[in-house]
Amino acid sequence: MHQRTPEITIIGGGLVGLSVALGLLMAGQRVRVLDGADNDARASQGNFGLIWGQGKGWDFAPYADWTMDALAAWPAFAKQLQDLSGIDVALDQSGGYEFFTDPTEFDAFEAELAQQATHLGNRARYEMLNGEELRSQMKGIGPDVVGASFSPCDGHVNPLRFLRALRCSVQAMGGHVTLGATVSAIRLQPNGGFALALANGETLQTEQVVLCAGLGAATLARDLGFITQVRPQLGELLITEKLGDRLPFLSSTIR
Ligand SMILES: Cc1cc2nc3c(=O)[nH]c(=O)nc-3n(C[C@H](O)[C@H](O)[C@H](O)COP(=O)(O)OP(=O)(O)OC[C@H]3O[C@@H](n4cnc5c(N)ncnc54)[C@H](O)[C@@H]3O)c2cc1C
Repeated sequence: MHQRTPEITIIGGGLVGLSVALGLLMAGQRVRVLDGADNDARASQGNFGLIWGQGKGWDFAPYADWTMDALAAWPAFAKQLQDLSGIDVALDQSGGYEFFTDPTEFDAFEAELAQQATHLGNRARYEMLNGEELRSQMKGIGPDVVGASFSPCDGHVNPLRFLRALRCSVQAMGGHVTLGATVSAIRLQPNGGFALALANGETLQTEQVVLCAGLGAATLARDLGFITQVRPQLGELLITEKLGDRLPFLSSTIR
């Protein structure tokens, strides 16, 4: 008997949902992405675009390895996105700094990088620079900076171009992306598959569901019988007036 390829519906059209969609499409699956409302809190529209390895997985070896694999995969991935979408995500992997003004935090981060290096072996590449070394190398580093770590593996992309490139690539591969399609409930159907109730009153049927709704996953996860660990966390950003020039270095501390 001929079996149809199951249609997979991805709830959430941020970086995670679109990346999953692209991977599934490349594996030959039929994919639909439903994305929520314009006023959702979307990390994919407000992030810094850093492609960053420093410290990642210092306390969990597989995460350290995955991060290094991901950093190494970026040049080919950026090219693939450009080929599919025509959008240059402006990948720059020329290395980046984490700056410190607190000596205790600087020492603690050095210890984390040393621990991360024990997982990565000869893939670990970083150096620690003290305040004097930094001030002799770059203009504008103030007296309160006690030091920085530098890794030549780190870099960034333009985050908004990246999001758009992913969306266009999914569409170019034959995926359907519907915006303004907030899912309000997921119901398991007695004969298999799922019914998705949308906030606009529509109901959609699907054979499989992947929940990638960021902060919106918390309520929908309950419909699927699990508790999600995704939760909002208060951070701090200090925003200055616009600078005349771009900073002459990449940093996760100052963007
Ligand atoms: C300030 C900040 C800076 C960051 N900087 C970096 C960085 O430099 N580098 C890095 O790698 N990471 C960074 N991150 C983390 C990164 O941005 C996130 O990990 C990533 O964007 C998460 O993507 P997501 O698709 O899971 O979630 P989201 O971007 O939140 O996307 C979820 C999507 O689901 C949709 N949705 C929600 N509920 C529903 C529903 N019920 N039905 C349908 N759709 C729904 C939303 O509309 C949204 O589009 C940063 C995060 C923040 C907040």
